[in-house]
Amino acid sequence: MNAVDIEALSVNYGAKHAVQGLDLRVRPGTTCVLLGPNGAGKTTTLSVLLGLRPADSGRVSVLGRDPRDPALRHLIGVVLQDGGLPMAAKPVAIVHHFARLYSNPLPLPELMEKLGLEHLDRPYRRLSGGEQQRVKLAVAMIGRPQLLVLDEPTTGMDPAARRVFWTLIDELRQQGVTTLMTTHQPDEAGTRADQIAVIHHGQVIADDAPDRLIEASPVWFTCARHLDLSTLRQVLGDEYDVAEVEPGRYRVRGDVDVPQMSAIEAWVAGHGDGRQAVTMVRSLEEAYLEMTGGSAW
Ligand code: ATP
Repeated sequence: MNAVDIEALSVNYGAKHAVQGLDLRVRPGTTCVLLGPNGAGKTTTLSVLLGLRPADSGRVSVLGRDPRDPALRHLIGVVLQDGGLPMAAKPVAIVHHFARLYSNPLPLPELMEKLGLEHLDRPYRRLSGGEQQRVKLAVAMIGRPQLLVLDEPTTGMDPAARRVFWTLIDELRQQGVTTLMTTHQPDEAGTRADQIAVIHHGQVIADDAPDRLIEASPVWFTCARHLDLSTLRQVLGDEYDVAEVEPGRYRVRGDVDVPQMSAIEAWVAGHGDGRQAVTMVRSLEEAYLEMTGGSAW
C-alpha cells in the first residue's frame, strides 16, 4: 500500500483549473518533494490530501484511507503556509498544548532542543519567519505521525536550520515515516529526497529519483574566453544543442550521459585558455527550469 495514492485528481476554483488530472504515488518510509512554479497546484493538492478541500474528480487515498477519515488526524503531521497557531502563546506553551492531544508524544525537551526552541521566550507573533517555521515543525512532529505533509516547511529558515530540518526528516524516514513536502529549493531537495515530482499547470510533468531527473539537466560550463563551438558540435552530433547563452557561459542540451560528459570535459579542457579551471554544472535546479520552461509563472 502506498502512503499517498492520487489518481487523475482535478480541482477547480470556479473557472480556474488548479489541478488537472494529477497522478502521484508515494511509497511508505520515503521522502517525496513537490516542486513547481507559483500557482502550479501544489498547495491545492496537499489541501485535498488533508481533507481540507474536496476533489472535483479523481481518486485520493492517504495511508489507505479516504482523506476525510477522522482517524487520519492522529496519523498525519502537518505544516501549512498559513498559521493556525495561537499568535499570543510562546513556543513552549504551544508545543506542550499539542503534545497533550497525543497518547505517546515525542519527548518534549529533546524535540525543543533539536529545533532550537527551548530559549525562544517570546509570543509566536514576535518570532522571525524561520523561528515560526520551527515551531510549526515541532507541532507537526510531536504526535509521532506516520505521514508528514509539509507545505514549504523550510521557507524563511537559514542554512543551519535547513540542515537541522533535513536531518530530522532523515531520522524520521529511518523510523519509517513518510514525508510529502513542497519547496522552492530544488537543489536542497535533490540531495535529500527519494522522489521528486514536478508539478506544472496542475499536472505532474516529471516524477523520479533526483539523480535521474538531474540526468535530464542541461550541462553548463563557463570559460573566460570566447570558444568556437563548431568542433564541439561535431564531437557530440546533431542531437545535442550547444550554445553560448551569455558571453562566456555555455550550455549543452540533450541526453548527456557519462561518456558525453567526459567528451565535453575533454573538449573544453583542450579549447579553454588552460589557466582557468572550467566548471561543469548540471543540477536539479537546471533540470527543473528546463522542464518548466524557465518561466516564473
Ligand atoms: P505556490 O508555490 O505559489 O504556493 P501552488 O503551486 O501551491 O503555488 P496553489 O496555491 O495550489 O499553487 O494554486 C493553484 C492555482 O489555483 C493558482 O492559480 C491560484 O491562484 C489558484 N487558487 C488557489 N486558491 C484559490 C482560491 N481559493 N480561489 C481561486 N483560485 C485559487
